[in-house]
Amino acid sequence: MADTKKVDILIAGQGASSFSAALYSARYQMSTLIASEQFGGETAIGGDIENYPGFPSIDGYDLMLKMKEQVDLLEVPIHHSNIVAVEKSGEGFITTLQDGTKVESLSVILAIGRERRKLNLLNEEDLMGKGVSYCSTCDAPLYRNKKVIVVGGGSAAVEGAILLGKYATEVWLVYRKSTFTRPEPMLVTQLNQAENIHQVMDTEIAELLENDFGLIGAKLSKEYEGSDQIDIDGIFIEIGADPRNEIAKAMGVEINPDTDEVHVNRDMNTNIPGLYAAGDLTDGSGNLKQTVTAAAQGAIAALSAYEHASEIKANRAEAAVTVGD
Ligand SMILES: Cc1cc2nc3c(=O)[nH]c(=O)nc-3n(C[C@H](O)[C@H](O)[C@H](O)COP(=O)(O)OP(=O)(O)OC[C@H]3O[C@@H](n4cnc5c(N)ncnc54)[C@H](O)[C@@H]3O)c2cc1C
Repeated sequence: MADTKKVDILIAGQGASSFSAALYSARYQMSTLIASEQFGGETAIGGDIENYPGFPSIDGYDLMLKMKEQVDLLEVPIHHSNIVAVEKSGEGFITTLQDGTKVESLSVILAIGRERRKLNLLNEEDLMGKGVSYCSTCDAPLYRNKKVIVVGGGSAAVEGAILLGKYATEVWLVYRKSTFTRPEPMLVTQLNQAENIHQVMDTEIAELLENDFGLIGAKLSKEYEGSDQIDIDGIFIEIGADPRNEIAKAMGVEINPDTDEVHVNRDMNTNIPGLYAAGDLTDGSGNLKQTVTAAAQGAIAALSAYEHASEIKANRAEAAVTVGD
């Protein structure tokens, strides 16, 4: 028979928003369980983090280890299985995990982040790790003295191109539109000043070219400087990410129609009482999806989850006294 656990607050995810939520939840003396298979979230693969207060520069993996260590000190257990469904059950919830475990809780915090977007080219998946990467900050040092393409036009792509420009001999930043979307002005200035970064606008990647060892080039949707092909050693696909909203959608949670993110109010409430969401999954911090904003949202979600769970407990205690009378 499937194992059943009972806690006050269940937190799904092992990223910055989850660990921060767990820290606060445990300090509110709620029995807390983290359910998630994989440690660290996006921060752990983010390379050097230079904008998390208190750490002028820290490797993302190490930062997440520090967050986990702080939660470990409060003895919050981690069940290493992802959540697959959450159902309302009376005043609380029953969450089903991938390994069949059921978790009964009074509040649930969804902090399960986003999925990186792909170009969906024929051989893209096969070439992952053989020239195709989705993380400039992680893999840039591997391309020292090589040639690379970065695909995309948002902050991540522009940042990635600038970083890669410090390692690679030549970088082509390929974007399907004619102007970049929302990168910080400082980044655009740096981009324009980098002599080895070529901006290829109004262009898409049509095909990835490979030999027996991996990626060797890319075909463009139109010619750039006399050719529709660029010989490269690597391609970095930085075209955004999709919020992991399926579980929330199945529950009837309100989704932001513009961003597909779980809609939360300033207390991280969803439209379902007792269900909270935090971090990159939500529309709570607009376009600033960062470790610091995810951590902040986790803390706020934990306070809301604590208040909800405490109210249920207080009502139950009162009802028990009345029956006792
Ligand atoms: C390459 C890169 C570089 C970055 N650099 C920086 C930077 O320099 N500074 C900065 O502040 N931010 C940076 N970021 C952004 C930052 O990493 C994110 O904003 C932050 O990780 C969001 O935290 P989160 O907790 O919302 O989600 P995530 O970190 O994505 O964590 C989500 C967690 O949920 C888990 N999960 C997924 N599905 C389920 C499920 N069904 N059940 C249970 N768990 C599940 C995942 O395994 C993961 O543990 C970077 C991101 C990337 C990709």
